[in-house]
Amino acid sequence: MAEKRDYYEVLGVGKSASDDDIKKAYRKLARQYHPDVNKAADAEDKFKEVKEAYDVLSDSGKRARYDQYGHVDPNQGMGGGFSGADFGGFGDIFDMFFGGGGGRRDPNAPQRGNDLQYTMTIEFKEAVFGKEMDITIPRTENCDTCFGSGARPGTKPEACSVCHGTGQQEVVQNTPFGRMVNRRACSNCAGKGQIIKDKCSTCQGSGKVKKQRKIHVRIPAGVDDGAQLRMTGEGEGGLRGGPAGDLYIVIRVKPHDFFEREGDDIYCEVPLTFAQAALGDEIEIPTLTEKVKLKVPAGTQTGTYFRLKGKGVPRLRGIGQGDQHIKVVVVTPSKLSEEQKDLLRQFAAMDGEHTHENEQSFFDRMKRAFRGD
Ligand SMILES: [Zn+2]
Ligand SMILES: [Zn+2]
Repeated sequence: MAEKRDYYEVLGVGKSASDDDIKKAYRKLARQYHPDVNKAADAEDKFKEVKEAYDVLSDSGKRARYDQYGHVDPNQGMGGGFSGADFGGFGDIFDMFFGGGGGRRDPNAPQRGNDLQYTMTIEFKEAVFGKEMDITIPRTENCDTCFGSGARPGTKPEACSVCHGTGQQEVVQNTPFGRMVNRRACSNCAGKGQIIKDKCSTCQGSGKVKKQRKIHVRIPAGVDDGAQLRMTGEGEGGLRGGPAGDLYIVIRVKPHDFFEREGDDIYCEVPLTFAQAALGDEIEIPTLTEKVKLKVPAGTQTGTYFRLKGKGVPRLRGIGQGDQHIKVVVVTPSKLSEEQKDLLRQFAAMDGEHTHENEQSFFDRMKRAFRGD
């Protein structure tokens, strides 16, 4: 048996530590080593060690005797020491920290049903304008025949005779430090606290049945990819009269060939011929709802953005709509007739040194780069 560590050392506090310091140190370490949280092999031993140290140092009488006698307390008899004789498993401490739950939950208490998640893929424009539809969701519901009890109608589940309905079994171990009591799920009833002798034939005693359920879904205009809709009470049925869980619908939006979306704004690219860009033109632009005319001024450069105000996506929360941004891309012709080529050669010859002002600096910059500036 390893030498027992000093209780002050275990909690990492000094001999003169106040009750408050001891409590703080204990809480911190207990959280760190609680076997429900810490899965390391030695966590349980560490946890017990911390608990034992705290039991002694938090009790002024025990602490005074420990200060005087150390680990061997003459009042406790041989090998007794200050063991965790009243150590009631991990449930107690979990209750203390996290307010219920843990190992002590009443197995017969009502329990909320599980939440469900459903992923729905919709078209780009359905996300913009919203959509109403019916979907079918498979979910677990309480059995109608036995109302979820699992027992054949006219019979009742009986309290488990091993755990007397608590769903938990106490396992007592005698250790060199004293009696350790651990609570585990009852093996006779699998922690349910009750035994069903006469099972419901519809659900085979589970109290649950799988059902396809049709749900009407209204997707609001303006939802975006990744949005989540919560349908309260449309999840799985609760247990023993508990409320149903919720259904979460995760929206996936298919990309569009032409439009791209960024928040409430829509982006698109529109091709322009060299002539249109140079001479200016009025072009037609598709928006989400209609065709709109856009004036492109003479001398428009490729990559220029134009904005159509209010032609974007309706705002999901609030009023109004985003904008549509149009990027014009000048397309260089790749197939030219001989006549077109001739005209372009003439154009190039005439253009010569004569360039527009805003292009000047651009060409100058390139010339300087060639010179190695
Ligand atoms: Zn039992
Ligand atoms: Zn049933």
